[in-house]
Amino acid sequence: MPSRVGPSCARVDLDALAANVATLRLVAGRAQVLTVVKADGYGHGMVQAARAALAGGATWLGVAQLGEALTLRGAGVSAPLLAWLFTPGEDLVAPVRADIDLGVSSLVALGEVAAAARAAGRTARVHLKLDTGLSRNGLPLAQLDEVLRALGPLQAEGAVALVGAFSHLACADQPGHASIAAQHREFAAALAAIEPVAPALEVRHLANSAATLTAPQTHYDLVRVGIAAYGISPASALGRPEDLGLTPVMTLTARLASVKDVPAGTGVSYGHTYITPAPTRLGLVPLGYGDGIPRAASGIGPVAVGGRRHHIVGRVCMDQVVIDLGPQSRAAPGDEVVVFGPPAAGGPSVQDWAECVGTIGYEIVTRIGARVPREYVGVGGQA
Ligand SMILES: *Cc1c(COP(=O)(O)O)cnc(C)c1O
Repeated sequence: MPSRVGPSCARVDLDALAANVATLRLVAGRAQVLTVVKADGYGHGMVQAARAALAGGATWLGVAQLGEALTLRGAGVSAPLLAWLFTPGEDLVAPVRADIDLGVSSLVALGEVAAAARAAGRTARVHLKLDTGLSRNGLPLAQLDEVLRALGPLQAEGAVALVGAFSHLACADQPGHASIAAQHREFAAALAAIEPVAPALEVRHLANSAATLTAPQTHYDLVRVGIAAYGISPASALGRPEDLGLTPVMTLTARLASVKDVPAGTGVSYGHTYITPAPTRLGLVPLGYGDGIPRAASGIGPVAVGGRRHHIVGRVCMDQVVIDLGPQSRAAPGDEVVVFGPPAAGGPSVQDWAECVGTIGYEIVTRIGARVPREYVGVGGQA
């Protein structure tokens, strides 16, 4: 028997990722595609996801944190790269030296970027991050004039070049939500105010995955797609991935560690929250909340074994869950359990999991832990 790396595996189809990005590129029309690879590529592996996205036609990459951006540069990824979330006092010299574009959300951040640029002896490339209504990261528009006044001399000095302006939508996953048009108007007004200071911005960008798919008026010069690149629908309301022309990239599987036939009245897992109503066969799946299986999936999380659907019974533990295979089951130790994947994998989808535990697909894949080995297939990552 071939030896396996561990009891579970997250198979990542890089060709599917590249194909999803190619699809999104068509959807984006004249806008370029920035693929968001933060949080370890939404759990898929950041560097591999980045290379596959570039192979699929993305021309930009985006991350939240500076450390993520530096890791990409360290791996030899040289594409235009934007990082947008850092705190006062973080080292900005290394990112400026590494040619990482910085999202700037405050006057304080602008000052720190300029100081880092002087220390690095080069011009820092900045995208102004505007808060047009999300009330999260972003410059309040009331402070825009002040920041623009500070920018003038910094640009003249050569410390900073304003190359982009962007904002992020609050309700893009609810097509037609009034806030989308409101944020779009605020963004347009802010761009008009920026124009005299930076008449030739390289990129203005507003759309995330949901807006890329449903709101073409928000595409501007660049769309920032994360979740859709991984073949996951931004929201159940937008349809399933296959309706959007997307293929789920990750397939999470494990091998049954054991099976046991038990009589009626058997208490299962911590707290005995499940008692078998009849004789049945139980299967032990070596994945738990330590691997990212939500504990909220206790008693309900769906899986497939040999093409048949089963669900978790009793509580999700740190390293394992128990499934009820039914009394007629012929399942045996070593059989493959599909936790989620594309329709072709014959099991539940990420969306099924998200709906079942009351969360979003983003959280399901991003939480798959480091203990689950990623197995990469496809050539998408070799570009
Ligand atoms: C995470 C993130 C995105 C990507 O959002 P998706 O819904 O995954 O497409 C885009 N822009 C910003 C600022 C983000 O933080």
